[in-house]
Amino acid sequence: MVQGSTNWNTELTQEWLQNYVDDWVTFYRKHTADGELASYIPELEKADAGSLGITIIGNNGMTIRSGDVETPFTIQSISKVFSFIVACMERGVSYVLSRVDVEPTGEAFNSIMHLEMKQIEKPFNPMVNAGAITVTSLLKGRTSDEKLRGILDLLERILGYRPTIDVDIYESERDSSLRNRAIGYFLLETGVLESDLNITLETYFKQCSINITVDDLARLGMVLANDGMDKLTGEEIIPRQIARLAKVLMLTCGMYDASGKFAAYVGIPAKSGVSGGIMASTPPRVREEILPFMDGCGVGVYGPSLDAQGNSIAGIRLLRHIASHWDFSIF
Ligand code: GLN
Repeated sequence: MVQGSTNWNTELTQEWLQNYVDDWVTFYRKHTADGELASYIPELEKADAGSLGITIIGNNGMTIRSGDVETPFTIQSISKVFSFIVACMERGVSYVLSRVDVEPTGEAFNSIMHLEMKQIEKPFNPMVNAGAITVTSLLKGRTSDEKLRGILDLLERILGYRPTIDVDIYESERDSSLRNRAIGYFLLETGVLESDLNITLETYFKQCSINITVDDLARLGMVLANDGMDKLTGEEIIPRQIARLAKVLMLTCGMYDASGKFAAYVGIPAKSGVSGGIMASTPPRVREEILPFMDGCGVGVYGPSLDAQGNSIAGIRLLRHIASHWDFSIF
């Protein structure tokens, strides 16, 4: 709910909102000290732990940018949303869902435990590593570059440029991938993988190593907020049913084993990655009073200092603060 006595109705100018966000970024930047950089992919440890940046793009084009908005970083697990979307567009939703479920795990993103303990026939959901690796195996193409093409094509359609791969991160991830390989071998044994394991993992590491910025994440989040439609160009980029399913998965599974708390306290579909990125989608909402970004918006956040679940520690707090003050929740 909206806090305080601010009268957004009369104060909704861009400058006014910008000042608020600047203050909040300054405040929450201090919280970066409460977390740690991801270290299990050694190259990720080179990030500046004190960074915090945010971009919000509204459906009317109003854009608020604050903090470290120019720093590029790798998309990491946020790519799982787009590999899922592309797999659904290429293979059909029902086929993809015959290979991966839509249930939250409540476990860490790279957990292997459920796969064995629950004797499952398919991984829990496409937002954890086991499900994402399975989805990547469904992408069209024989080589990793062919498989990656669909993801890059989709991102290019939305962003207006073709993102690149950070080769250092890719190699670092590939060379420190024992857990993901273990998951991969397990999946191979259960028979859900549809492509060669090495090609699948190579594609997965490359998709995680796509370079991105908070501006890009905000734009991607905005298209999802609008069920796949790019309101700035009027183009339908992602079929509605698939965009909505992706948002359901973001809401229920997108923040790893903190997804329930994020849904309760922030209340919007979001997906995070271990490089410290968060992509969030605020759909248009109906309220009696006038609020900032009522027509919906996409939000991109970057803050590489992470909490215990692997989410941006300051990024989540900043997002929670904004969502609470501007009543972003879909509930
Ligand atoms: N590339 C990372 C991994 O598979 C992505 C995980 C993440 O961002 N949570 O371990």
